[in-house]
Amino acid sequence: MFQRAPIRHCKNCGSAVAYRIPDDGDTRERAVCPNCDTIHYENPLNVVGTIPVLDDRVLLCKRNIEPRWGKWTLPAGFMELEETVAQGAARETTEEAGANFRMGDLFAVMSVMRVGQVHLFYRAELLDDRFDPGHETIEARLFHEEEIPWDDIAFRTVREALRLYFEDRRSGNFGRIHTVDIT
Ligand code: ZN
Repeated sequence: MFQRAPIRHCKNCGSAVAYRIPDDGDTRERAVCPNCDTIHYENPLNVVGTIPVLDDRVLLCKRNIEPRWGKWTLPAGFMELEETVAQGAARETTEEAGANFRMGDLFAVMSVMRVGQVHLFYRAELLDDRFDPGHETIEARLFHEEEIPWDDIAFRTVREALRLYFEDRRSGNFGRIHTVDIT
Protein backbone atom coordinates (compact mmCIF):
# COMPACT_ATOMS: atom_id res chain seq x y z
CA MET A 1 0.00 0.00 0.00
CA PHE A 2 1.61 3.20 -1.21
CA GLN A 3 1.31 6.11 1.22
CA ARG A 4 2.50 9.29 -0.48
CA ALA A 5 -0.14 12.04 -0.75
CA PRO A 6 -1.72 12.28 -4.21
CA ILE A 7 -0.99 15.25 -6.48
CA ARG A 8 -4.01 17.60 -6.56
CA HIS A 9 -2.99 20.46 -8.82
CA CYS A 10 -1.03 20.80 -12.05
CA LYS A 11 2.53 22.02 -11.47
CA ASN A 12 2.39 23.76 -14.86
CA CYS A 13 -0.95 25.63 -14.84
CA GLY A 14 -2.51 25.05 -11.41
CA SER A 15 -5.65 23.28 -12.64
CA ALA A 16 -7.04 20.34 -10.65
CA VAL A 17 -5.55 17.10 -12.01
CA ALA A 18 -7.26 13.72 -12.46
CA TYR A 19 -5.61 10.31 -12.05
CA ARG A 20 -5.94 8.26 -15.23
CA ILE A 21 -3.84 6.14 -17.57
CA PRO A 22 -2.38 8.48 -20.22
CA ASP A 23 -3.20 7.74 -23.86
CA ASP A 24 0.44 7.23 -24.86
CA GLY A 25 0.72 3.50 -24.18
CA ASP A 26 1.45 3.96 -20.48
CA THR A 27 0.14 1.26 -18.16
CA ARG A 28 -0.07 3.17 -14.86
CA GLU A 29 -2.42 5.83 -13.60
CA ARG A 30 -0.79 9.27 -13.53
CA ALA A 31 -1.94 12.68 -12.39
CA VAL A 32 -2.93 14.20 -15.74
CA CYS A 33 -3.91 17.83 -16.21
CA PRO A 34 -7.18 18.18 -18.19
CA ASN A 35 -6.26 21.76 -19.09
CA CYS A 36 -2.67 21.63 -20.40
CA ASP A 37 -2.23 17.82 -20.71
CA THR A 38 0.86 17.76 -18.47
CA ILE A 39 1.49 14.26 -17.11
CA HIS A 40 2.95 14.29 -13.58
CA TYR A 41 5.19 11.27 -13.14
CA GLU A 42 5.87 10.22 -9.55
CA ASN A 43 9.01 8.26 -8.84
CA PRO A 44 10.86 7.09 -5.74
CA LEU A 45 12.97 9.56 -3.76
CA ASN A 46 16.45 8.78 -2.50
CA VAL A 47 17.25 8.95 1.21
CA VAL A 48 21.01 8.96 1.80
CA GLY A 49 22.94 8.47 5.01
CA THR A 50 25.89 6.94 6.79
CA ILE A 51 26.80 4.41 9.44
CA PRO A 52 29.47 6.43 11.30
CA VAL A 53 31.77 4.25 13.38
CA LEU A 54 34.52 4.95 15.91
CA ASP A 55 36.35 1.73 16.82
CA ASP A 56 33.53 -0.59 17.91
CA ARG A 57 30.89 2.06 18.50
CA VAL A 58 28.26 3.47 16.11
CA LEU A 59 27.01 7.05 16.10
CA LEU A 60 23.27 7.57 16.46
CA CYS A 61 21.31 10.81 16.51
CA LYS A 62 18.23 11.45 18.65
CA ARG A 63 15.66 13.15 16.42
CA ASN A 64 14.49 16.64 17.27
CA ILE A 65 11.97 16.62 14.38
CA GLU A 66 8.85 14.74 13.39
CA PRO A 67 8.23 12.07 12.38
CA ARG A 68 9.58 9.91 15.22
CA TRP A 69 10.64 12.78 17.48
CA GLY A 70 12.89 11.55 20.29
CA LYS A 71 13.76 8.29 18.50
CA TRP A 72 17.29 7.35 17.46
CA THR A 73 18.47 7.26 13.86
CA LEU A 74 21.55 7.08 11.71
CA PRO A 75 22.29 10.43 10.06
CA ALA A 76 20.27 10.39 6.81
CA GLY A 77 17.94 12.53 4.78
CA PHE A 78 16.60 13.30 1.33
CA MET A 79 19.16 13.65 -1.42
CA GLU A 80 19.27 17.13 -2.95
CA LEU A 81 19.58 18.09 -6.60
CA GLU A 82 23.13 18.79 -7.82
CA GLU A 83 24.85 16.42 -5.41
CA THR A 84 26.08 12.85 -5.70
CA VAL A 85 24.75 10.10 -3.46
CA ALA A 86 27.96 10.12 -1.41
CA GLN A 87 27.95 13.93 -1.16
CA GLY A 88 24.37 13.81 0.12
CA ALA A 89 25.20 11.16 2.72
CA ALA A 90 28.19 13.19 3.90
CA ARG A 91 26.13 16.41 4.02
CA GLU A 92 23.46 14.77 6.17
CA THR A 93 26.14 13.45 8.53
CA THR A 94 27.60 16.92 8.91
CA GLU A 95 24.19 18.57 9.34
CA GLU A 96 22.71 16.11 11.82
CA ALA A 97 25.76 15.15 13.86
CA GLY A 98 28.47 17.75 13.21
CA ALA A 99 30.89 14.84 13.12
CA ASN A 100 34.45 14.69 11.77
CA PHE A 101 34.59 11.67 9.52
CA ARG A 102 35.96 10.02 6.41
CA MET A 103 33.47 8.51 3.95
CA GLY A 104 33.73 4.77 3.32
CA ASP A 105 32.13 2.37 0.88
CA LEU A 106 28.47 2.00 -0.01
CA PHE A 107 27.00 -0.47 2.48
CA ALA A 108 23.31 -1.01 1.70
CA VAL A 109 20.63 -0.19 -0.88
CA MET A 110 17.10 -0.55 0.46
CA SER A 111 13.90 -0.29 -1.58
CA VAL A 112 11.09 0.95 0.66
CA MET A 113 8.14 0.42 -1.66
CA ARG A 114 5.40 1.45 0.77
CA VAL A 115 6.63 5.05 0.81
CA GLY A 116 8.26 5.15 -2.62
CA GLN A 117 11.82 5.65 -1.35
CA VAL A 118 15.26 4.15 -1.84
CA HIS A 119 17.53 4.36 1.20
CA LEU A 120 21.29 4.23 0.62
CA PHE A 121 23.75 3.93 3.50
CA TYR A 122 27.51 4.39 3.34
CA ARG A 123 29.99 3.36 5.98
CA ALA A 124 31.89 6.27 7.52
CA GLU A 125 34.91 6.33 9.80
CA LEU A 126 34.73 8.86 12.62
CA LEU A 127 37.98 10.71 13.28
CA ASP A 128 37.14 11.65 16.87
CA ASP A 129 34.26 11.58 19.35
CA ARG A 130 33.39 15.28 19.25
CA PHE A 131 29.98 16.07 17.78
CA ASP A 132 28.17 19.31 17.11
CA PRO A 133 24.62 18.30 16.17
CA GLY A 134 22.37 20.66 14.25
CA HIS A 135 18.83 21.68 15.09
CA GLU A 136 17.36 18.39 13.79
CA THR A 137 19.19 16.44 16.50
CA ILE A 138 18.67 16.50 20.28
CA GLU A 139 21.78 14.47 21.01
CA ALA A 140 24.45 12.59 19.07
CA ARG A 141 26.29 9.79 20.85
CA LEU A 142 28.18 6.57 20.32
CA PHE A 143 26.74 3.15 21.12
CA HIS A 144 28.34 -0.25 21.58
CA GLU A 145 26.30 -3.00 19.95
CA GLU A 146 24.84 -4.12 23.29
CA GLU A 147 23.79 -0.53 24.07
CA ILE A 148 21.81 0.06 20.87
CA PRO A 149 18.25 1.14 21.83
CA TRP A 150 16.61 -1.29 19.41
CA ASP A 151 13.08 -0.49 20.59
CA ASP A 152 13.64 3.24 20.09
CA ILE A 153 15.10 3.22 16.58
CA ALA A 154 13.19 5.64 14.36
CA PHE A 155 13.00 3.71 11.09
CA ARG A 156 12.97 0.11 9.97
CA THR A 157 15.72 0.75 7.40
CA VAL A 158 17.98 2.12 10.14
CA ARG A 159 17.33 -0.92 12.33
CA GLU A 160 18.09 -3.16 9.36
CA ALA A 161 21.28 -1.26 8.45
CA LEU A 162 22.53 -1.55 12.04
CA ARG A 163 21.67 -5.24 12.19
CA LEU A 164 23.55 -5.92 8.94
CA TYR A 165 26.49 -3.79 10.04
CA PHE A 166 27.02 -5.68 13.28
CA GLU A 167 26.53 -8.99 11.45
CA ASP A 168 29.25 -8.07 8.94
CA ARG A 169 31.55 -6.88 11.68
CA ARG A 170 31.22 -10.13 13.58
CA SER A 171 32.06 -12.08 10.43
CA GLY A 172 34.83 -9.62 9.54
CA ASN A 173 33.45 -9.36 6.00
CA PHE A 174 32.40 -6.00 4.58
CA GLY A 175 32.91 -7.17 1.02
CA ARG A 176 29.36 -6.97 -0.30
CA ILE A 177 26.72 -4.30 -0.72
CA HIS A 178 23.47 -5.36 0.94
CA THR A 179 20.27 -5.05 -1.07
CA VAL A 180 17.14 -5.06 1.04
CA ASP A 181 13.54 -4.95 -0.19
CA ILE A 182 10.96 -3.68 2.28
CA THR A 183 7.42 -4.08 1.00
ZN1 ZN B 1 -1.99 22.01 -16.37
